[in-house]
Amino acid sequence: MKLAFFGAGGKVGRAVVPGLEQAGHEVRGFELGDEIDVRGLDAAVDFTSPEAAPENVRAALEQGVSCVVGTTGWDPESLHGLAEEKGLRLFVAANFSVGAVLMMRFAQEAAAYFPRAEIIELHNEAKKDAPSGTAIVTAGLLGGDPVIHSVRLPGLMSHQEVLFGGDGELLTIRHDTTARESFVPGVLLALEKLGSLPPGLTLGLDQLL
Ligand code: NAD
Repeated sequence: MKLAFFGAGGKVGRAVVPGLEQAGHEVRGFELGDEIDVRGLDAAVDFTSPEAAPENVRAALEQGVSCVVGTTGWDPESLHGLAEEKGLRLFVAANFSVGAVLMMRFAQEAAAYFPRAEIIELHNEAKKDAPSGTAIVTAGLLGGDPVIHSVRLPGLMSHQEVLFGGDGELLTIRHDTTARESFVPGVLLALEKLGSLPPGLTLGLDQLL
């Protein structure tokens, strides 16, 4: 596919763009300040910031290009109508790591047996939003409004624990991202399935697994 990648020079962009190219995609990178002209491309990918993503996605949709978005901390529902009206796809996932999606799925399963849970999400200090998109999605899957603890420190990348407390036992489900290349298979999967999704917004990698 011919792709636009918003945020190509960022931490995720620098790890994911080479992976997309290795898989055979042709990638045109966009950075802050570039004119958004994506006409004629097959899809746009966005890993930028909560401030930039809505504008990039709106511009891509208005130019007839479907989008795959990893940027968290904004409301993608606001662009569902535009995507649907244009017959385009807007796929947004708070986490493109397959391991993280399985962690959420296993946590949801455990919640049926352990009603008391808390979430600890740990990210690098550069992460702007807190709690993380993944923690918010996990909390929704668990139900019961679990407490989310957000840690922001240098030395961390992206980590999450879901702790379940029962009488005399504790269950911990933990996922660690140790390199941003872990997002490549999820982004490739989203691009592969994009054309078969219904027009409008689809949320979450679990919808594709
Ligand atoms: P980063 O700050 O390292 O990179 C963001 C890049 O976007 C920067 O190079 C910046 O210059 C660029 N940018 C800013 N505004 C832009 C614009 N208008 N157009 C084009 N480029 C623009 O951040 P990062 O660590 O690469 O993360 C990017 C986003 O992805 C964050 O919101 C983060 O939370 C999210 N993220 C999501 C996942 C996931 O799996 N869904 C994984 C990691 C990070």
